[in-house]
Amino acid sequence: MSQHHSDDNHSDDNTDQEASRYQQRMATKKRIVDERIANADQERGVLIVLKGNGKGKSSSAFGTMARAMGHGQRCAVIQFIKGRRATGEYLFFNEHPQVDFHVMGHGFSWEVRDPERERQAAQEAWALAERLLADDQYHFLLFDELSYMIKYGYLDAEQIARALKARPAHQNVMITGRTMAREIQDIADTISIIHDERHAFRLGVKAQAGIEY
Ligand code: ATP
Ligand code: MG
Repeated sequence: MSQHHSDDNHSDDNTDQEASRYQQRMATKKRIVDERIANADQERGVLIVLKGNGKGKSSSAFGTMARAMGHGQRCAVIQFIKGRRATGEYLFFNEHPQVDFHVMGHGFSWEVRDPERERQAAQEAWALAERLLADDQYHFLLFDELSYMIKYGYLDAEQIARALKARPAHQNVMITGRTMAREIQDIADTISIIHDERHAFRLGVKAQAGIEY
């Protein structure tokens, strides 16, 4: 019976209550975020791992490198899989004075497999990576597709983890690859999984310059 009178007041009350509940929720949220900001007081480089079967790992890593370059930071890339010679990222970043761009030498491609040459190429590329990891001039390092070298047994994950841990404190490192060795994930600060929900390739679209390479 009382449902029928003062409907307007009722809904005003409800609106007020909702508004105050909303304000409370927002205040709680803000407190949590403020606490997190206060807790995040370390200033140091991070190790970021991008893994998973979806498209976007290497392109995200190169995007992050562009961000670092915008701040004048010295950067280096090692691409551990030699696929196409002239990728867009190579053509673009290799020109830039702030970037040292290395593509792993002779041997590794999907077409011709020669395990001994591949192992040697991987180890040479990793020796270079260790030099970069010991050089505090570099602010940002990208080891693109490094994970395959571990998966194939050409490189030792523990040795890689040791060099990563010993790097200069300010150095940021990104590592990409569909799967990632446990030893590397264990010491990563950020890990993102790119999930493959759909890919144009499976719709029959050819790989194209500017998107795939
Ligand atoms: P990108 O370099 O485009 O960011 P990625 O680094 O995440 O891709 P990789 O596993 O390195 O992916 O594969 C490299 C190439 O394979 C790219 O040309 C990409 O478009 C393509 N690719 C990535 N994921 C898929 C997929 N799920 N199906 C088909 N092709 C893919
Ligand atoms: Mg990639």
